[in-house]
Amino acid sequence: MKKISFCVLIFVNFLFVSANVSGYRSYKNYKCFNVQGDRLRIERLRHALQESDETLTYADTRDGGEFIVAPHLEDLFNKIVTQENLKTTVVYDDISKIIQSEKSLLRGSKEFSWTAYYDIDDIYKYLTNMSKSYPNLSELIVGGKTYQGRSILGLRINTPSQECTPKPVIFIESGIHAREWIAPATTTYFIKELLTSKDANITALRDQFDWRIFPSVNPDGYHYSYTVDRLWRKTLSRSTNRCFGADPNRNWNYNWGQYSSTHNPCDYQTYAGSRPFSEIETRTLAAYIQSIDNMMAYISFHSYAAMLLLPYSDSTQHVHNYDDLVKVGKSSLDYGYKVNQDKRYQGPGTAAEILYKASGGSMDWVRHALGTPLVFTYELRGNSFHWPPSRIQEQGDEVTQMMLGLVTEANKLGYY
Ligand SMILES: [Zn+2]
Repeated sequence: MKKISFCVLIFVNFLFVSANVSGYRSYKNYKCFNVQGDRLRIERLRHALQESDETLTYADTRDGGEFIVAPHLEDLFNKIVTQENLKTTVVYDDISKIIQSEKSLLRGSKEFSWTAYYDIDDIYKYLTNMSKSYPNLSELIVGGKTYQGRSILGLRINTPSQECTPKPVIFIESGIHAREWIAPATTTYFIKELLTSKDANITALRDQFDWRIFPSVNPDGYHYSYTVDRLWRKTLSRSTNRCFGADPNRNWNYNWGQYSSTHNPCDYQTYAGSRPFSEIETRTLAAYIQSIDNMMAYISFHSYAAMLLLPYSDSTQHVHNYDDLVKVGKSSLDYGYKVNQDKRYQGPGTAAEILYKASGGSMDWVRHALGTPLVFTYELRGNSFHWPPSRIQEQGDEVTQMMLGLVTEANKLGYY
């Protein structure tokens, strides 16, 4: 049954691609629901819907979850939420309209900007151009390889210094989940701020550290979400059967495959891969990270829960410097709040405590394997993986301040 429905889907997709120059999976009349209630009941809802449609898209939120429901699933969805006594509200009555509204603004002007979302080639061009415009401050770096043969490109920002000792490294990993577009956009904005701002606080932030910044560590997936399926999350690696892609943030070699991940290659969201580091993206990026000495902080950007998460994601046990992480995290959020009082971020806290348990993520592996002292995952703002392109700058400014708040408290606590 599943085989047939997938073939139909492929065929429909093929027709759609042939008939529509945009080539996008349309999501016409797919509704987005916010669901509140007991987590176990929400889990049961998710399982029931996935039984009928393995491409179901959902996200856990701070007080429940969001589901993007296909028209053919709506009756089932309504039946189960009534049975399970769950509270629902409609966030978007047709998600395709949101996708279209983004699409009309894709790429924007020829000049790279933060009022539109860009495909991976444009993001890479921006990194290359910045490395050429600021050769004394920055250089292009390669953090790994992808299934389709791309490089995972980043920018190292390490201004010349009179000191003999190397600067502490701050690593930024962004966009590991393809559809979380605000993450790469915010990251390139932060790069622009570091390299061009005249604000003394920002130039000091730039000069004190050896920055390794990767706006998109899943560029194959990002390109796919940009050109074929807006809600694609995984890599594009081929499995032994008909399905493809693995969740690159469930694929790292620490407690692999235990929580919030599946061993079903056809799972649209959280397939952990065939083994730890089965994905070339995570394997090569881990090797690069491992080669870095003196890493003070590892920061991962996701969206869209507006939360600050601490290691470990699959345990409620606290790491030895947990209290410091909370202080540094709070300072970061306080700085962000100064420029954006829209809605306070939740946290800092472990994912297991304030979101849900998840295993095989990059943050946990870095903390466990390398002992990096300051490790954080920022869930940026948004709704249904969407953030208006006209407002990217807001989150860019907020994150810039958050990084300032982070290093200010880290300094007070003696981390550098
Ligand atoms: Zn994510």
